[in-house]
Amino acid sequence: MFKLYNTLTHKKQEFKPIKSKKVGLYTCGPTVYDFAHIGNLRTYIFEDILKRTLKMNGYAIKHVMNITDVGHLVSDADTGEDKMMKALRREGLKPDAQSMKELANKYFLAFKKDTGDLNIIPPDERPKATEHIKEQVELIKMLMVKGCAYETADAVYFDTARLKDYGKLAHGRAEVEEALARVESSKEKRNAPDFALWIKAVGRHEKHVMQWPSPWGRGFPGWHTECSAMSRKYLGQPFDIHCGGVDHIPVHHTNEIAQSEAAYGAPMANYWLHAEFLTFGRNKMAKSAGTFISLADMEKKGFKPLAYRYLCLTAHYRSKLNFTWESLAAAQNALESLYEVARYWPKPEAVEPSRLENFKEALNDDLDTPRALAELWFVVKSIDESFRAATVLEFDKILGLGFKDYIARPPKIPAKIKKLARQREVARAAKEWQAADKLRRQVEEAGFLVEDTPKGPKIKSKIS
Ligand code: AMP
Ligand code: ZN
Repeated sequence: MFKLYNTLTHKKQEFKPIKSKKVGLYTCGPTVYDFAHIGNLRTYIFEDILKRTLKMNGYAIKHVMNITDVGHLVSDADTGEDKMMKALRREGLKPDAQSMKELANKYFLAFKKDTGDLNIIPPDERPKATEHIKEQVELIKMLMVKGCAYETADAVYFDTARLKDYGKLAHGRAEVEEALARVESSKEKRNAPDFALWIKAVGRHEKHVMQWPSPWGRGFPGWHTECSAMSRKYLGQPFDIHCGGVDHIPVHHTNEIAQSEAAYGAPMANYWLHAEFLTFGRNKMAKSAGTFISLADMEKKGFKPLAYRYLCLTAHYRSKLNFTWESLAAAQNALESLYEVARYWPKPEAVEPSRLENFKEALNDDLDTPRALAELWFVVKSIDESFRAATVLEFDKILGLGFKDYIARPPKIPAKIKKLARQREVARAAKEWQAADKLRRQVEEAGFLVEDTPKGPKIKSKIS
């Protein structure tokens, strides 16, 4: 049985798709105003594991991820500047639509590269908010017709008092109000949790370089509007699974649900899955908190992206993961030692069915990746050597740790090294221990190791 924890019902539930073998999946994507930090990337890795596990269970997936390139304000309470406008200034770009497109494209490409380096399977659709203004205006019109939205001098707001179950994803309206309590709220709102559907190009937004005409004057859509409009366009309503980080529960996802359900009278999605935060010391990793580490920062320190993927898999997605450079180093060592042993296995033959069964059971239990990794280590250390390669390759369809480049691929040993090893054998046979040690050191300095096995000496590459 495939079980997932559904934030909406607060319990682990058996996954039952709407259509028998096809799953509609929507995951909130990046706001392309900066590089992604490794906290954001943790969430995308979790979503990738979910996708691969769905596939393992025989489902075809249609995965949609939005790209936010307008409307995400600095604060979740619809105050402050648009993050994209702030970035335009930060980068000293011209305040025009063309520069904004270039800015968005720069960070979109960086996002594609990071997720590619982490072996994350790309979505089927990556719709941009700026390319779906018509759909968003239609949604707002519908909310106006239904009496769930109202216009003020600065925006069109969603009237949360019109929904009896507003805030159900976050346990209730009080939780939403609490999440918003610390931030300044617009004086024009009727109720504190009301949120902007359309933001007028007036006041602080007068000079916004991205504006479109609408029945409520020129302006741009609010951040939540895009996810309701685009998920409906590409996946219909309801669709199966909606994901994001836990920070999206009280505001962004709560408001997506409010809009979609009020406008179209049907649930938005059946399963809501949320990844816990990556923390850094006592803080969550966040662009604004100055605790920003990108994948490129990690690589500059000599870490490989897949070592970070491995680190993420060591924690369950619903637990916080505290990032330290030491834990990343331990993850990289663990992964490289796995690669290293895999090099000397015989070529893939047969999968060990009982171990595969255990592995699937772990993932089908709400994506228990720590248990899946324990199963990987068991296979590597304890099962018959002839089963290891094929079993690990099967596991790696989900883990995505890049084993195929290492399994049964012993490193090429240069002739010079082979010669040094032979000379060492001669020295050992003649009991010239000092000479033998010196030759061993020469081999090591060149990046190799000589291991004495019952079958004679074996040369291996050193783990870098
Ligand atoms: P953003 O670009 O800020 O909209 O964030 C992109 C994704 O990363 C969202 O699903 C967020 O919930 C998630 N996210 C943000 N900060 C963290 C963090 N520290 N750890 C894990 N996920 C995060
Ligand atoms: Zn969203």
